[in-house]
Amino acid sequence: MRVFNFSAGPAVLPEVVLQRAAAEMLDWHGSGMSVMEMSHRGKEFISIAERAEADLRALLAIPKHYKVLFLQGGAIGENAIVPMNLVNGRAVADYVDTGEWSKKSLKEARKYCTVNVAASASDRGYTYVPPQSSWQLTPGAAYVHVCTNETIGGVEYGFTPDTGDVPLVADMSSHLLSRVVDVAKYGVIYGGAQKNMGPAGLTLVIVRDDLLDRALPITPSAFHWQEQAAADSMLNTPATYSIYIAGLVFEWLLAQGGVAAIERVNVAKSKLLYDYLDGSSFFRNDVLPQDRSRMNVPFKLADPALDGEFLKGAEQHGMVQLKGHRAVGGMRASIYNAMPMAGVQALVDYMREFERRRG
Ligand code: PMP
Repeated sequence: MRVFNFSAGPAVLPEVVLQRAAAEMLDWHGSGMSVMEMSHRGKEFISIAERAEADLRALLAIPKHYKVLFLQGGAIGENAIVPMNLVNGRAVADYVDTGEWSKKSLKEARKYCTVNVAASASDRGYTYVPPQSSWQLTPGAAYVHVCTNETIGGVEYGFTPDTGDVPLVADMSSHLLSRVVDVAKYGVIYGGAQKNMGPAGLTLVIVRDDLLDRALPITPSAFHWQEQAAADSMLNTPATYSIYIAGLVFEWLLAQGGVAAIERVNVAKSKLLYDYLDGSSFFRNDVLPQDRSRMNVPFKLADPALDGEFLKGAEQHGMVQLKGHRAVGGMRASIYNAMPMAGVQALVDYMREFERRRG
């Protein structure tokens, strides 16, 4: 029996995608092979990768002067790969610190350049996005880095920063494809696939063409965006099966009506949960309402001694992976694109019942 899986990642995938992958497991489209067994240079896999890229470009309306790279190393890998590819000839990079993932990014970047923390939300426990008017940006910086959805803290940008001529670089690991984004406002968008796109192992990088000549000479070829772009992301063997599943997820998203359509569902799903939290005297979420994540909803019980009982009861009701990240404790419901409204409704029903009984 399938459960409602609220994991922050690797996370729930659309059931129809898993069914299709199962049906195609032993023999992909009459090839007599599993996708896992195909050469990445064979015509079958090339067609899978090309279709995945074309569908992603359609979903996000990615302009022609951007490259789409299917790489590896995860978003944590990108924390190093981003500066390596962008700081040649420029000494300083600006970082906006909105939580655990921003902190990790800027700490890693310090190995490659001088990091200026342009703004930080640490003063209020990472419960908001510092407004751009408060950012102390460096003129001529190599780039400005933001994490537009903090998966642990549950803080999401509701605005697109304006950094003028300085390229804006965004870690969108946990909300890419959940809302409409104007790619042209960014120099680089990156993210691990294992939340909203597919299985772990695939890292997506979308990079503007004119930024491909800024890499440090030490940049490893496998992580050198210009070299990978020239090789259609096949300078080394890519994460073929993860690309295939991501491609099926892209097809599913297009069939749902695309990103604008799924965004409406995401607005409704997150509203259901936040409205309940705000009306409850037993559960709470501390994030400034305008900066709350639609994808990751952390919440706390009035009495943390009941956390274990809450989680156990949730499991008995078919809802799993609700425990909050160890860095912050409490609970967290990740409600990515593939989480149906019925899952959020089941969670709210259970919370209401728990509050009535134990509140
Ligand atoms: N950035 C964000 C926003 C994330 O949510 C995560 C994973 N939870 C990471 C970076 C790290 O990704 P990975 O483990 O794929 O390197």
